[in-house]
Amino acid sequence: MHVTALIVAAGSGSRMGDGPPKQYRRIGGKPVLAHAVDALASHAGIDAVRVVIGSGQEAQAAEALGGRDVGPLVIGGATRADSVRAGLAAIAGDIVLVHDAARPFCPAPVVDRLLAALDSDPAAVPVLPVADTLAVGLDVLGAPVDRADLVRVQTPQAFRLRALAGAYASWSGPAPTDESTVARRAGLRVAMVEGDPLLDKLTSAADWARAEQWLGTRLIARTGMGFDVHAFAGEGPLTMGGIAIPHERGLAGHSDADVVLHAITDALLGAAGLGDIGEHFPPSDPRWKGAASELFLAHAAALIRDAGGIVDHVDCTVICEEPKVAPHRLAMRANVARILALPESAISIKATTTERLGFTGRGEGIAAQAVATIRMEPRA
Ligand code: MG
Repeated sequence: MHVTALIVAAGSGSRMGDGPPKQYRRIGGKPVLAHAVDALASHAGIDAVRVVIGSGQEAQAAEALGGRDVGPLVIGGATRADSVRAGLAAIAGDIVLVHDAARPFCPAPVVDRLLAALDSDPAAVPVLPVADTLAVGLDVLGAPVDRADLVRVQTPQAFRLRALAGAYASWSGPAPTDESTVARRAGLRVAMVEGDPLLDKLTSAADWARAEQWLGTRLIARTGMGFDVHAFAGEGPLTMGGIAIPHERGLAGHSDADVVLHAITDALLGAAGLGDIGEHFPPSDPRWKGAASELFLAHAAALIRDAGGIVDHVDCTVICEEPKVAPHRLAMRANVARILALPESAISIKATTTERLGFTGRGEGIAAQAVATIRMEPRA
């Protein structure tokens, strides 16, 4: 059984005034869309994650996704239903989970329950009971509504792909608000499984505050340090922070000898307790000969992400007499921010000399040290 999660992230509104659409806003420093992708991609029962975005949102989506493997982005349509249709047309396989990006936290047991329900039914949705008193609300409070038989329907909603595609093909009338509506209209039996309050959609400012708070209590801060040295050798330019810096001498190393990215990579791995750069990318491995160190840094960030962690901040100090780092500091910062899919304010690149003392003072090489602050779930 091949299972695809289809995340609908095509909305253009934030409902909270100015700013980017809500799927591109950040919670705990990480875009809402990225939370949604990570929650589903990390589930063992899901084989692929695809994302439907609004037309013109390509750059925002790419920034929010930060290199996550979601295949080609699907461009959605005018309504949510149009976007889901576009998504369905872009995927293959047996089962699809249609999910809203504005529900960033999807507990794995909900997906377990949905997939189990599809053994016997063509469709399954997570639901929760209604706890509040319900009434018709007009000018004043109207007639009470019996809540005993009512449920709130959440996403992800799971379907046999062919059944949902067929149901959409036969849909006519105003755009539906979810897929279970389309499935029922087409006569499909829709099973109910237990939902989770964590799946409630982010709508109001209060929802965002609650989401931040929940993340804050779940994750603990961890700090890691990294240190790296490369000797001058041969001709320049040399690469620091992924930026080519003109200099008469280059740096020796198996990869591109980028001391800045190596120190930051080790700081991230250290913060996560995931070993060191030499362990993940041994210099003895010919694959990394001359490699762009951006690969190493992106890999460390992906490992933290896969573990449910968030990178909060990186600070790096370059130690050398030459070349002058200051003119390249901001370009390096912007590039590290891009690789880590973080705002530039989360990255700091500084430089110092050692007053002509030691190997950096004698101009024999360049050193860099870095610290990284991340948040991760405490491990048992
Ligand atoms: Mg190195």
